[in-house]
Amino acid sequence: MNVRAAATGVLLTLLMAAGVARAVDKIAPAYAPIPIPLKIEQVPGKPIYYSVGNPGIPGKDNEGNTSNAGFVVTSDGVVVFDALGTPSLGWALLQEIRKITDKPVRYVIASHYHADHIYGLQAFKDHTAAVIVAQERASEYKENEETADEKADQRLDQRRGVLFPWVDDKTRVVPPDITFKERMTIVLGDRRLTLLFAGPAHSSSDMMMMVEPDGVLFAGDIVQNSRIPFMNSDDVSTTHWLDALAEVGKLQPKFIIPGHGKPSTEADKAIAFTRDYIQYVRNAMSGAVQNWTDFDAAYAQTDWSKYKDMPAFANNNRGNAYRIYLELEQSQFKQDKP
Ligand SMILES: [Zn+2]
Repeated sequence: MNVRAAATGVLLTLLMAAGVARAVDKIAPAYAPIPIPLKIEQVPGKPIYYSVGNPGIPGKDNEGNTSNAGFVVTSDGVVVFDALGTPSLGWALLQEIRKITDKPVRYVIASHYHADHIYGLQAFKDHTAAVIVAQERASEYKENEETADEKADQRLDQRRGVLFPWVDDKTRVVPPDITFKERMTIVLGDRRLTLLFAGPAHSSSDMMMMVEPDGVLFAGDIVQNSRIPFMNSDDVSTTHWLDALAEVGKLQPKFIIPGHGKPSTEADKAIAFTRDYIQYVRNAMSGAVQNWTDFDAAYAQTDWSKYKDMPAFANNNRGNAYRIYLELEQSQFKQDKP
């Protein structure tokens, strides 16, 4: 090999190295970074971790980081529960997992298909081999799908506005790879994960995940702590929701990680907030329905002082009350039928 050929060889090697670097850049995501890092906490003494979202509704101030997510590190890989509300947050969660373990992410479980829990799925779909699992009605959550309880395309447009640059024109809804109807058990290494359908309650596809032998329950949005839940959609059933909360109590988890708000070792206290709120609004609206009071008057007459300073009250409460009014009106109508 002459000098020139050798130099060309070196140059080629350098170019190839640069090419490889560029290829890696392409693989690395173009997600806008999140200025506030996720704070990962551990369930005491367990290989189970979680991130707690900010109160309130998704917006620039909280970077869309309003929901909780977590992961279980088994002896045979990682199972993630929920993927947070933007691809950037999903990617950040994956990086946090990588700080703790290099085991592969085997599954990502979606508690339900609402934007604040699923836009991060994109990062897992594109950068891991994880299988995405959800309850079967989650498959309805797609573009132009009128049966979805949160209209997927409308919501994506809204988030591209309020959460840009973390949600942009490259953000997409990633559907589940596999779904289940009532119950699914995943045995992975030294852990058993039971997925339990709990809807339709907060959404059509609500589910919870019990981790054994630890007794840790990821409850999704069935349980929300100190935050006014979102109930203003066609598929909300507060009757089922109250049933699902009772089920949570029966499972007797030692540690409960809600969809929003603080995790707790006291399951009864954790479910009390959501249950009491639902019951309060139901009581207020059922009187109105029975007396044929119209909704606006009923809403105005109700004392909301107990809840009005809670996160998400301004955005969610009136719509929630209206949904419950309609739900109770419908059940009354059914009862009245001969
Ligand atoms: Zn949520």
